[in-house]
Amino acid sequence: MKDSFDIVIVGSGIAGLSTLLYLRDTELFKQGELSICLITKGDMNETNTHWAQGGIAAVKGVQDNFEKHIADTLNAGAYENNSFIVEKVIKAAPSLMDDLIRWGAKFDKNKEGQFDLAQEGGHSEARIWHKEDQTGKAIQDALINEIKNDAHIFIQEHTSLVNVEQLAESVFGLALFNKKTNSFSNINCGKLVLATGGLGMLYQTTTNQQIATGDGIYFANRLGAAIENISYIQFHPTGLYEGGQIAYLITEALRGAGAKLLNQNREAFMHKYDARLELAPRDIVSRSIMKEIELQENLYVYLDATNIDKQVINAHFPTIKNECIKRLGLNIENDLIPVIPVQHYACGGIKVNEFGESTIKGLFAIGEVASTGLHGANRLASNSLLEAIAFAKFSIPRLIEKVNVKPSINIDIKLPTTRNINRTQVQDYMSHYAGIVKSNQGLIRAGELLNELDLHNEMDLAFDFHHFESNIVLQVAKLLIKDAINKKENKGVFYNTDLVG
Ligand SMILES: Cc1cc2nc3c(=O)[nH]c(=O)nc-3n(C[C@H](O)[C@H](O)[C@H](O)COP(=O)(O)OP(=O)(O)OC[C@H]3O[C@@H](n4cnc5c(N)ncnc54)[C@H](O)[C@@H]3O)c2cc1C
Repeated sequence: MKDSFDIVIVGSGIAGLSTLLYLRDTELFKQGELSICLITKGDMNETNTHWAQGGIAAVKGVQDNFEKHIADTLNAGAYENNSFIVEKVIKAAPSLMDDLIRWGAKFDKNKEGQFDLAQEGGHSEARIWHKEDQTGKAIQDALINEIKNDAHIFIQEHTSLVNVEQLAESVFGLALFNKKTNSFSNINCGKLVLATGGLGMLYQTTTNQQIATGDGIYFANRLGAAIENISYIQFHPTGLYEGGQIAYLITEALRGAGAKLLNQNREAFMHKYDARLELAPRDIVSRSIMKEIELQENLYVYLDATNIDKQVINAHFPTIKNECIKRLGLNIENDLIPVIPVQHYACGGIKVNEFGESTIKGLFAIGEVASTGLHGANRLASNSLLEAIAFAKFSIPRLIEKVNVKPSINIDIKLPTTRNINRTQVQDYMSHYAGIVKSNQGLIRAGELLNELDLHNEMDLAFDFHHFESNIVLQVAKLLIKDAINKKENKGVFYNTDLVG
């Protein structure tokens, strides 16, 4: 393997792949003057992107306009958003959809041949582009297909970033570990793009995949980059209740199509909490469900989709219907679906500017791992796929700036030593003390317990990848608790019973 690249991208979700495709469009790349390597932990499609259901938000309908999408985004984000970024992303959205379509992504159309746009919670208009209820897969497959045959792009699957050092300004030395061959290598690069996704593995129950251990945040923090608002965690109100860590998501679009939330007495309850009912922003719906669960001393509530036309279910939600049959033997056309709120999305992350640059020169963060200012204190549904592709595009001028200054330093970046951290324990503490409803005392206790875990564990004799990841989970959990303790006001998804707001 070549050991020096202009740009290394870590991650093969929408953020990593679209950055790669925009780089491929540049003159520099076409002239053979840009060397790029993309690494990813598992197969190319082991990402959260692959599992996105609802879709991607972009203004298109005749009734809709940028101002409405901007207003909805700011409203969901409790006005903690960066309004310049909100406007920049939302105005770019229609042309980003053109790019996705150019790369082969297909979106559903109606009988008239127009794009069939759906409406989701917090959106005042129908503007969600989707492919049935598997939009993420449709995008992921198209992007993978687009780069598959490009011999000029170097891709390493089953390869994880396990150590990084900044050797000089814009020179990064990386240690990589290949899980399949159990081998280790060093490479260096001028620009490093962290597109590592979310941190769902910090919690007991999440919609995120195994890969979502918060690696980008861990590495950026170790390099000294600013991290912000990682305690702004969005919980999805409707994870399928079935036990186990990875919860199957029941998309918001089902509520958009008319599904109702019912308590154990089969009574609708959202009217008690918000006038927007089932389509209120996710933090409100999640807290309302938790309140009902507490009132009824039960483990879950129900989502009732039986009132939705069967044709609509079969046309728009075939995967959800099949998954519910497969997992719980329920037919959503006739049966109630047991649901609970589960960890879903990290609104904060590595602080970046409008070009996706972190506070460390040459270090970029794109996608869920980044904190761009788009989401503020809460992400509006379907704005995250949009954010990832938007910042992939915005980053290009800075990413290709002053490349070809080939790092010529000999590198020797060691594998980190690993320790046997109890990951399940971290997840228990986080879900108990840093979940949907927090308190000052609980956060302080979580900090103490995590510190204890950090101090008491055995060193491994050899590098152990699972333990390596568990240590990241622990260190990112500690950062999250610190951020939560520093919050002085409740905003958006952040709710501490001891604070106002
Ligand atoms: C079930 C579900 C449904 C969703 N539905 C929607 C939706 O409808 N609309 C919407 O806008 N958003 C949705 N989201 C959120 C959205 O899917 C994610 O925010 C987005 O896909 C993140 O893309 P990404 O490229 O940043 O990260 P990911 O797609 O998660 O990709 C992360 C990549 O980084 C790699 N990686 C991580 N650490 C390392 C490392 N150390 N070394 C090497 N590689 C590494 C992983 O292997 C993976 O390839 C949903 C999320 C989930 C989980």
